[in-house]
Amino acid sequence: MKYHLFDLEIETVGNPKTFNCSHIVGDGLIIKGENIMFKPGTKQFSHYVLASLAPHIAAKQRASETSDFMYFESDIACPDPKCGALFRFKRIKSEEYDYSPLGTV
Ligand SMILES: [Zn+2]
Repeated sequence: MKYHLFDLEIETVGNPKTFNCSHIVGDGLIIKGENIMFKPGTKQFSHYVLASLAPHIAAKQRASETSDFMYFESDIACPDPKCGALFRFKRIKSEEYDYSPLGTV
């Protein structure tokens, strides 16, 4: 069975003067299928942020209706309530994958 997922780029945005963590504007992650890579130039990325973004990654990889908030909301706030950093999701391109179920339905 064929299906499509978007490759994603997640980039740190916002005013660094409002950051309470060690984020650097422009740093981020690349998501391709099941794999996560550092965006070129990124040396570190908060595991607390990664944990908070994880549920959004699978949802953002999938196509959604243009009226669905998952389609048009792109910025996720840092989980530290004292931090002003945002993490911007961008859909880069759609890739086709193949999945063979283990059992029959
Ligand atoms: Zn933060």
